Amino acid sequence: MKVPEQPRQFNLWINGNSTASASGRYITRISPAHDCPVTLVAEGAAEDVDRAVVAAKESFDSGVWASISGAERSAVLYAVADRLIERKDELALLETLESGKPLSQAGFEVEWAAGLWKHAAALCRHLYGESCNTLGAGTVSMTLREPIGVVGLITPWNFPLLIASQKAPYALAAGCSAVIKPSELTSATTLVLAEVLKECDLPDGVFNVVTGYGSPVGQALCEHKDIEMISFTGSTNVGKAIAATAACNLKKVCLELGGKNPMIVMDDADLESVVDAARLGAFFNMGECCNASSRILVQEGIADRFVEQLTTFAEGLKVGEPMEEDSKLGAIINEAQEQKILGYVQAGREAGATVCMGGGKVETEKGCFLEVTILDHVPSDSSVATEEVFGPVLSIVRFKTLDEAIAIANRTDFGLSSGIFTNDYNQAMKAARQLRAGTVWVNTWLEGHPELSFGGYKQSGLGRELGSRAVEEYTEEKSVLFSLGKRQPWW
Ligand code: NAD
Repeated sequence: MKVPEQPRQFNLWINGNSTASASGRYITRISPAHDCPVTLVAEGAAEDVDRAVVAAKESFDSGVWASISGAERSAVLYAVADRLIERKDELALLETLESGKPLSQAGFEVEWAAGLWKHAAALCRHLYGESCNTLGAGTVSMTLREPIGVVGLITPWNFPLLIASQKAPYALAAGCSAVIKPSELTSATTLVLAEVLKECDLPDGVFNVVTGYGSPVGQALCEHKDIEMISFTGSTNVGKAIAATAACNLKKVCLELGGKNPMIVMDDADLESVVDAARLGAFFNMGECCNASSRILVQEGIADRFVEQLTTFAEGLKVGEPMEEDSKLGAIINEAQEQKILGYVQAGREAGATVCMGGGKVETEKGCFLEVTILDHVPSDSSVATEEVFGPVLSIVRFKTLDEAIAIANRTDFGLSSGIFTNDYNQAMKAARQLRAGTVWVNTWLEGHPELSFGGYKQSGLGRELGSRAVEEYTEEKSVLFSLGKRQPWW
């Protein structure tokens, strides 16, 4: 595939139609790998959000989606999954052009996203309440799960279609209508998703896309009185601001935020398997991954061998043109992010870490490319070991005992993912119980399944996505009580 000669232009998507923004302006996305414009997306404003919310609310109130059967909703979501696969090449190319990620990985993400639509399609038919038959002879009750209403979905730039697909199909499965705001850097695939939904007969107004900047578009969604819930994935700082804004009219918020995920490697671990997992965990998607294993805690007895083998294997990772099949790492999202990452590497050096590999820019004619970077002997309290770097930088922290490793692992404000490599199930179980994180991987990393819930402890988030209760997040629970026979007088 080649970089198209002309950038592709997208409007907002409101009430089932492509429509210009009120401002008439467009945001130009420059490919971070090729330094040329690849997309133009409409720059939305608060009044565009209002138009989208009106359309969403009308569709919700009409019952055209919310009141049909789970089986009917399920059929639409299954069709979407199939159509995403049919449009996979187009989606993957757009993702690569806007984000800089390798095309092969972008294609894999489309498949993963399609799997989420299928998972949600299955859950559509399994949304149950409870009944209570122990309230006495004259009373019986039930709980009903109902769609929460119009939801606002706000997504980041690192996995645009995938993260939209962690939210939208579950909201739609519940019967909600949605307004989604993708990142201003990577909006294209969310707009193609809107076309796909129309092709699959989702009624107009149920899914709307307003592109643009966090302020005003994201802000207006969080403030809007007719939005009942915000589901946000992004940075912890923006997540806190969103929670504060949403509090003004007490919306429900679900937040999927940053991480600083510790991978603990014990002396008895299978070295080959650890090295492979560490490479994937730290460098997949150029390390721009909330689940990145960006700090690896290694027990002293295995540490030298681990560093030697990891460095050897990491040298084989090709960084460069994301369209080439053998490129394992593509471009960094933009120069600001590149500078932030290099700043962390410098801070690590100043804190006393050893740079085993990389540490700088890859010199290329075009684009933002960084070297695969491994830092050893990183002090466990340094910024590179405790803050989210979001780049291809792996920090190795050495430890003596499992208790020490767990204490270091838990000593951050984050709690998204974590893991341990060991052949001793007692050690594995101890870590699984004591690590304060929403996911603990044992002898693996980055393995996700829609069947398992995903989310963070502490400042990594609020609420959970995926898993068997993913659709329930987008519902209200109502208690219904029947008084049977003649009601007993109270007074
Ligand atoms: P970001 O927080 O800067 O932006 C995320 C989204 O919020 C974008 O669409 C942005 O335009 C919007 N936004 C910005 N300011 C806003 C405001 N005031 N009100 C409403 N919306 C606003 O994040 P990013 O740089 O796009 O993504 C990287 C971050 O996302 C990292 O911290 C990463 O860890 C996190 N992330 C978390 C998960 C997870 O599942 N936990 C997954 C992927 C990424």
